[in-house]
Amino acid sequence: MSGNSVNCPDCDSENGVDAGAEVGQVVACKCCGTLLEIMSIAPPSVAKAPQIEEDFGE
Ligand SMILES: [Zn+2]
Repeated sequence: MSGNSVNCPDCDSENGVDAGAEVGQVVACKCCGTLLEIMSIAPPSVAKAPQIEEDFGE
């Protein structure tokens, strides 16, 4: 195997980071779907990306 992996800050699942990934890229956690923004490649780290929220009023 090659490439890096990071743990989701929400569910702690391991997510692979593509070799061609770039800082600022947003990926979805394969487990919980939380959007993760790649903060650095080496070492790989992610942070929760701002979730897009629709305001439907409630
Ligand atoms: Zn997750």
